[in-house]
Amino acid sequence: MFKKILIANRGEIALRIIWACRELGIKTVAVHSEADKDSLHVKFADEDVCIGPARSRESYLNIGAVIAAAEITDAEAIHPGYGFLAESAAFAEVCKACKITFIGPKPHVISVMGEKAKARETVKKAGVPILPGSDGIVPDEETARTLGREFGYPLIVKAAAGGGGRGMRIASDEEELIRVFPVAREEARASFGVPDVYMEKYLHDPRHIEFQILGDSQGSIVHLGERECSIQRKHQKLVEESPSTALTPKMRQKMADSAITVARAVNYENAGTVEFLVQDGQFYFIEMNTRIQVEHPVTEMVTGIDLIKEQIRVAAGLPLSFTQDQIIFRGHSIECRVNAEDPVSFTPSPGLITSYHPPGGPGVRVDTAVHSDCRISPYYDSMVAKLITYGNNREEAISRMRRSLEVMVVEGIKTTIPLLLRIVNDADFQKGNISTSFLKRWYP
Ligand code: ADP
Repeated sequence: MFKKILIANRGEIALRIIWACRELGIKTVAVHSEADKDSLHVKFADEDVCIGPARSRESYLNIGAVIAAAEITDAEAIHPGYGFLAESAAFAEVCKACKITFIGPKPHVISVMGEKAKARETVKKAGVPILPGSDGIVPDEETARTLGREFGYPLIVKAAAGGGGRGMRIASDEEELIRVFPVAREEARASFGVPDVYMEKYLHDPRHIEFQILGDSQGSIVHLGERECSIQRKHQKLVEESPSTALTPKMRQKMADSAITVARAVNYENAGTVEFLVQDGQFYFIEMNTRIQVEHPVTEMVTGIDLIKEQIRVAAGLPLSFTQDQIIFRGHSIECRVNAEDPVSFTPSPGLITSYHPPGGPGVRVDTAVHSDCRISPYYDSMVAKLITYGNNREEAISRMRRSLEVMVVEGIKTTIPLLLRIVNDADFQKGNISTSFLKRWYP
């Protein structure tokens, strides 16, 4: 097992990884930007290294600075968390070249799944359903037009290197396709540095259901059930839960088998998520995320498995600490993302948190790195806290979520709390009648 791990991240996920390391008796190194010098992840790590100015490109995304920090502190492994360098095959390669263990899958697996058009091909070959769409990158408007005639409308143009809901444009007819195609390419270039886009059929009212995968270096691959993440704004998740109310046991088994097939196709190691869209009883692969995800706690709550500890164990070469048959699913868990943003326009609302008080009591977990008198920086993502509840059934998880949102105090900035409360109080949400267009009823 490792003696010391460097955490190449900030905020709640950096703290979450520190907690796992402490339980495993592993020392931690925090890296931080100048803007984050007073952050909790810096306070609670055993050592810390400043790796640059506030701007991510010059600090958390600076591969040279992160590697140098690992070398001077003798860290044997790096946990990338999510975001920043977590899905950078180049970073994983550099770690390997420097004999530092990257806690995640192999670099070539990151790149196969990170290029979403390539991932579609791999998955199709493995026999798992994907949406009708382009074989690979769509180079120009002419090809887009031809494909549009072949597959029919609506279509969605997506950034091949996409993530975080950026670089996606919907076209309901040929005229719109010709208009949005260059816009999607430009957005892709601006967000991800490459203009490549691909196309697939657009579903109007799907549900987003994903499966958690874990694999070890001995070739064992298991799934830890699904998470439903249909409540989204701007194609980004806001509320997640496990299990999904949409799946019959038969459908769940079919999708779990497909998720394992996808992972097997690339000899997957470590934690990953296979994402599907589900509509009219059919499911379609959309992408695989080769890292731990924001919403991983709901899986931890219903399985009792610590995913971060398991990631560290398998990266150290140990086998998974359980077999598929030993995973027991119990109860229901929901996660709400409390973001620093206007609950109507969703524009970020950074600033000073003047007062903070988290909820607690049975079945409540809060993953956060904030406290009173701390500043939500405009430089980084706007998440304030993940509020997670557990119940013996969905009703209990919802009622615990409601009472938690009612008493949670975050003053000084705008947050999504009022919107989250409105969601958990909604009759359709309570019945499990949800889809990715759920929020359109309030924000047409
Ligand atoms: P990202 O990598 O940016 O998160 P995804 O491919 O995972 O992009 O899609 C994010 C969300 O965008 C999905 O959960 C869904 O709401 C929407 N979406 C993506 N592709 C489609 C599609 N073909 N039809 C309908 N909605 C889609």
